[in-house]
Amino acid sequence: MSRRPYLASRLQGFGTTIFAEMSALAAQTGALNLGQGYPDADGPDEVKQAAIDAIFAGVNQYSPGPGTMDLRKAVAEHQRRFYDFDLDPNDEVLVTAGATEALAASFLGLCETGDEVVAFDPTYDSYGAGIAMAGAVLKTVPLLPQSDGTFGFDDDELRRAFSPKTRLLMLNTPHNPTGKVFTPSELQLLAELCQEHDVIAIVDEVYEHMVFSGTHVPLACLPGMFERTVTISSAGKTFSFTGWKVGWATGPAPILSAIRTAKQFLTFVNGAPFQPAVAVGLRLPNDYFNSLGVEMEAKKTLLCEKLDKAGFDVLEPEGTYFATADISPVSKKKSVEFCMALPEEAGVVAVPCSVFYQDERMGDHHIRFCFAKSDAFLAEAGDRLIAAYG
Ligand SMILES: *Cc1c(COP(=O)(O)O)cnc(C)c1O
Repeated sequence: MSRRPYLASRLQGFGTTIFAEMSALAAQTGALNLGQGYPDADGPDEVKQAAIDAIFAGVNQYSPGPGTMDLRKAVAEHQRRFYDFDLDPNDEVLVTAGATEALAASFLGLCETGDEVVAFDPTYDSYGAGIAMAGAVLKTVPLLPQSDGTFGFDDDELRRAFSPKTRLLMLNTPHNPTGKVFTPSELQLLAELCQEHDVIAIVDEVYEHMVFSGTHVPLACLPGMFERTVTISSAGKTFSFTGWKVGWATGPAPILSAIRTAKQFLTFVNGAPFQPAVAVGLRLPNDYFNSLGVEMEAKKTLLCEKLDKAGFDVLEPEGTYFATADISPVSKKKSVEFCMALPEEAGVVAVPCSVFYQDERMGDHHIRFCFAKSDAFLAEAGDRLIAAYG
């Protein structure tokens, strides 16, 4: 046996995530799992059928490095339809193995060892690990619950996070786990800071079509930002095919070329028969994209009303499929202990928000629920919480 630890030092602290633990607990106890973030219903049949057709038509070998031309065109058409972008599918669109690979390849392809990446805390869990694998350093600015029930940050704290070492801004809007949709004036400040410090923005927009209040504005749309912004999205969330792992990055050719250099040695390519299927999805009529948001909003309302009746202080999300609840009115426990006991106490699984925060003191009283589930499932979970705490 080796005397050296097996896990490389740059990955210390990124052991198994709480999601695996909570899902195991759900399976053991038969609790309703509102912990992990995935939908319980598959996406559109015509998209599924296109993947089946592609497999039988022989689309089963390596696809082109940047993705099939047709999918790159479909991404460009989608960005034009929703945001009025003009993208060249030749070198301004890159198909990736989910949003996750686009993120990892961005950190690896753009950062030198010791470069700093500014992100809002709490962060989606792959950011910290991806930044660490690239030898870069995460600098966080906390997003905290405000008196109006939304999440906000301190402008000066954000300004102080930028330095000559800052290489990237890592922004996620609509934001997982808080459900925050960044406002035009917040985006304006971020754009100014990126330009002032010559920083590249990486923007994770996987929840772009799940917005309930406010409007989702890509940072790349702001003046002077296209040339320094990489916009990332994925078929996982938009078409409810999280297992397909087809994502994409769009942005200026020189930046995408650096990302593609890293990407070609991560997976090279993936999901050949899923690529034409995702192109079918991206070309669905506006109705599909609108009803996705409308259906999610109804589910949000259903769950939040139940959480409110159960006695939690609910922070209603402006987007995404996650809702945050403050447990202080119903329990003196910290969020981790509360979530560990929740399957036994109420027959429901939720995730403590402390796992998303860098600063361990934060998220102590907040827990996250995923509402991308059937109405019956949400109603039953809500009623169980009301029975236990209401
Ligand atoms: C789900 C999710 C991802 C990962 O997307 P994949 O396409 O499955 O890799 C990235 N960012 C956020 C914020 C997510 O919620």
